[in-house]
Amino acid sequence: MGLNVIMMGPPGAGKGTQAGRIARERGLLKISTGDILRDAIKEGQPEALLAKAKMDRGELVDDPTMIAIVRQRLLRQDARKGVVLDGFPRTVAQARTLDQILDERGQETLVVVDVVVPEAELVRRLASRRICSNCGTTADPSYLEPACQKCGGKMVQRADDNQGVVLERLKVYHRETKPVLEYYRKRPTFRAVNGAQAPDIVARELDDMIDDARSAGKVR
Ligand code: AMP
Repeated sequence: MGLNVIMMGPPGAGKGTQAGRIARERGLLKISTGDILRDAIKEGQPEALLAKAKMDRGELVDDPTMIAIVRQRLLRQDARKGVVLDGFPRTVAQARTLDQILDERGQETLVVVDVVVPEAELVRRLASRRICSNCGTTADPSYLEPACQKCGGKMVQRADDNQGVVLERLKVYHRETKPVLEYYRKRPTFRAVNGAQAPDIVARELDDMIDDARSAGKVR
């Protein structure tokens, strides 16, 4: 049976890093909607320009666009064993549509994990976060080298990680995405992890939670 994991949590919680690791280790496809949008912008796709304007302001891109992106990725051959979603769903409408899509795919487990980090820590992390301008790899704030560890590309600040936009993103998170947590919270496959801990501890706890939720035998 397929396994799908949703990484919930505010910007800067460490969702992307953990999502990448979980996907690699379990042979799942990572779907990071923020990465997909940034790639489309880098490639100069005309429809990405509208998304860029929204992202630069810290606003959400519209639901139909985001749902189309995720639906398309879910059809890929390498999504057959399941996916790890990072940055999706961000609205209740997206969450509802995802449930419908998963219903169409059949009986697949959906584990939802909320990565919880205090707001002051998020602001601190986002201010020092760096991303590779070439391959998009996100570096830990403690990584101070100017070049990417993976490809040697230049490490830069994300356009939306400057302080004004960060505050807007956090506001949007509370308004639009917190209700998604309430949408999922009562399910037997919902878990919360303390994301303020060291990354390897978060990783271990997440792995246990996913295995535990999965063995609960509930689909979602
Ligand atoms: P992220 O890299 O996940 O922080 O996403 C960066 C930006 O991309 C967000 O601030 C939004 O503007 C946009 N974005 C990413 N995922 C979504 C989504 N599921 N719904 C709406 N907008 C999104």
